[in-house]
Amino acid sequence: MSNLSLRERDAATIAQIGKLRFSPLSLIGGKGNRLIEEGGRSLLDLSGSAGPAILGYGHPAVVEAVEASIRDMAGASLLLYPNEPAVSLAERLLAITPGNGERRVWFGHSGSDANDCAVRVLLAATGRSRFISFIGSYHGNLSGSMGISGHTAMTHTLPRPGVLLLPYPDPYRPQFSAEAVLALLDYQFETTCPPHQVAAVFIEPLMSDGGLIVPPPGFLRALQERCRKHGIRIVVDEVKVGLARTGMMHCFQHEGLTPDLFVFGKGIGGGLPLSVVVGPKEIMDHAPAFALQTTAGNPVATSAGNAVLKAIEEEGLVERSARIGALFSDGLRALGAKHEIIGDVRGRGLAIGVDLVKDRSTREPVAATTTAKIIYRGYELGAAFTYVGLKANVLEFMPPLTLTEDEVTEGVAIVDQAMADVSAGKVSDADVASFMMW
Ligand code: PMP
Repeated sequence: MSNLSLRERDAATIAQIGKLRFSPLSLIGGKGNRLIEEGGRSLLDLSGSAGPAILGYGHPAVVEAVEASIRDMAGASLLLYPNEPAVSLAERLLAITPGNGERRVWFGHSGSDANDCAVRVLLAATGRSRFISFIGSYHGNLSGSMGISGHTAMTHTLPRPGVLLLPYPDPYRPQFSAEAVLALLDYQFETTCPPHQVAAVFIEPLMSDGGLIVPPPGFLRALQERCRKHGIRIVVDEVKVGLARTGMMHCFQHEGLTPDLFVFGKGIGGGLPLSVVVGPKEIMDHAPAFALQTTAGNPVATSAGNAVLKAIEEEGLVERSARIGALFSDGLRALGAKHEIIGDVRGRGLAIGVDLVKDRSTREPVAATTTAKIIYRGYELGAAFTYVGLKANVLEFMPPLTLTEDEVTEGVAIVDQAMADVSAGKVSDADVASFMMW
């Protein structure tokens, strides 16, 4: 046995790229809505490990489904043979996503490969070579999905001459209004970006990694109308905020969108690697867009997917996420009376962001160090959460949808205390130096 801590062994072995570490937490387990760290202390999980822990940890339905499929079917590949869990999951997904005409489902392992697949099938099926997406959007880390993203996390990416990045209108910092963004799009269509060359627009109906931004009412619908007029397909990236998280089954429903393609990931696998694209048959079945992966749609991950969708329905998680989310948002908003640092509390259901500011009148974001200190102190006090935003100034709360009323009270109390302690200078720059990602 090594004398080193789990964190030290991780640092000595696992590549640094792709780590977003915001606190000293290292895990030996999880149970319900709690994470268990090395040493045995348990913490309230307000991050849902950034999405996959949609039902918390060790949900009996997921455990049972995975155990049975590992025993009976592990190793079977959807490439060669149909398997029951994959086909059942495809049937379920078609039943919960709207659309006319024949549609088909593609399975992958991550949000990244699903958006990448969407890019490739759209290129092949439409014969168009350009895409529209947003500054601040994050769609993945493969060349196609990263190519259509607009996030500061992307540094080493391929050139992407065909991608038009628009500002995502932010009601809290309305640097670009919805009208201005639509006017910019019209101008681009008339000048440098002929719409008949554009295959699709990729939309996060609630921008998550870019800062938990709820778009202004009507903006996305107006964007959809303009695009559809030119035959541009509408893709919704529901990877982070889909499947009951926002108090509706799908986040795009809040915006009244009628998408052509739907991308799911994270929570759909209940912790197992699983992602999905649903779209029209004529796009998804386009043969040149060969998109095979040997273990995609494997029976273990798709069994977990079936268990997640069943639990969402049977446990009423759509309604629950709306109700518990409102309670949580209200609790956090009430903290604004005590903590000047809280500029805005926003989101939908159990996707909640707390925008931290230096000054409420200017809405200038706090330094990332301040955000990191609140997360660090939150960890010490017993809760795990993270941050998002291009300025790293937005606390992100994406807990399991199974969060209880009592856990909301506990979580809000910890955030309250963490803010008070940071404001009283109880956390130093040195404490958080190694957790600063931006
Ligand atoms: N799309 C969105 C909206 C995301 O938030 C993320 C990850 N944060 C991805 C895609 C990529 O998913 P993954 O990390 O599973 O590849």
